[in-house]
Amino acid sequence: MDSRKIGILGGGQLGRMLVEAAHRLNIKTVILDADNSPAKQINALHPHITGSFASADHIRELAKECDIITYEIEHIDTKVLEEIDGQVELQPSWRTVRVIQDKFLQKSHISEAGVPVAESISVEQNTPESLQKIGAKFGYPFMLKSRTLAYDGRGNFVVSNAEKIPEALEALKNRPLYAERWAPFVKELAVMVVRTKDGKCVSYPTVETVHENNICKLVYAPARVPDGVRERARAMAEKAVASFWGAGVFGVEMFLLSDGQCSLLLNELAPRPHNSGHYTIEACATSQYEAHLRAITDLPLLPASTLLSTPSTSAIMLNLLGPSYTDIAKKALATPGATVHLYGKHEAKPGRKMGHLTVVAGSMSEAEYRVAPLVALADADKT
Ligand code: ATP
Ligand code: MG
Ligand code: MG
Repeated sequence: MDSRKIGILGGGQLGRMLVEAAHRLNIKTVILDADNSPAKQINALHPHITGSFASADHIRELAKECDIITYEIEHIDTKVLEEIDGQVELQPSWRTVRVIQDKFLQKSHISEAGVPVAESISVEQNTPESLQKIGAKFGYPFMLKSRTLAYDGRGNFVVSNAEKIPEALEALKNRPLYAERWAPFVKELAVMVVRTKDGKCVSYPTVETVHENNICKLVYAPARVPDGVRERARAMAEKAVASFWGAGVFGVEMFLLSDGQCSLLLNELAPRPHNSGHYTIEACATSQYEAHLRAITDLPLLPASTLLSTPSTSAIMLNLLGPSYTDIAKKALATPGATVHLYGKHEAKPGRKMGHLTVVAGSMSEAEYRVAPLVALADADKT
């Protein structure tokens, strides 16, 4: 389909699902990550690079082996990406990764593009005084966030009152910080947007994400909100993604506010396939992984490819976290319309994403009915 080799920075579950999609199109992939990482386990076609996506030397080595580099993670040294740009094609652009990987720069960029975000202030000094000033301006609670290297809420602290400030500074010590005004949301929404090389955007349906302990637990596709809200969320996500550079899939997270007007704020975006888009594998004509590959290699992608398979198709994705994920996975195999994905990770630590399942049905109520026993099993595991 395309004779160029694609280098993937990071070999976790997102890389693994990219490799699955690449195999079907006979697109060659080379992965940079530790030996036996989830993506490498299913691709024995080529010698991969052993090392870390955080290492400049390893990224240079990968660049020699491939024609296009893409990412399954945004926490990469962008100085080396800038250096190898031209020697190899980077999709999306290193500029996009640089802005997005610093959540404060990302928020400022998105706001300048005319998309509403929670008001944010950079914390110049990690001292109680500077946080007290922010508390006086924003009120409590406010959210303290690490600007960099954040994922699954590791990097966030809810400052519920002024007494919590020392604890917040201790929890996020030695990290560059910024503060965000609290977003009183009723639901969290997400949209996967595909940006093609000419800067055009097409988007998947708006989904609803449910987080527990800051980790995505469930995704409902489509979101159980009025059509008008879904359409506004897609338009907002496309507008934000259009303001970046380069091709690929972007995951856009949003808050639906409890202000009586269904206002939306953009929470954050990721320059890569995203947990909230796993459902596209079973529920849409073309998955987010294949769409990403098509976008970065300039292969055709029809707007209809990102629709749910039929107008009534509904899907629910459940992340399989922590040690007892295999019990839920086995039960899912006996559940109509359920598909299980296990990632091949060895150590099942609590909260670690070990796999996921997607239940597809002809209506949302049917999908909810089918997934309920699986969610109950996941909940029982925590008690
Ligand atoms: P991810 O794994 O999605 O990359 P992350 O570590 O980057 O997560 P965020 O998306 O910034 O973290 O925040 C995690 C969760 O915390 C959000 O999904 C939301 O539930 C809550 N949250 C974040 N910012 C705010 C805010 N300003 N007000 C209220 N809740 C918030
Ligand atoms: Mg994030
Ligand atoms: Mg997030």
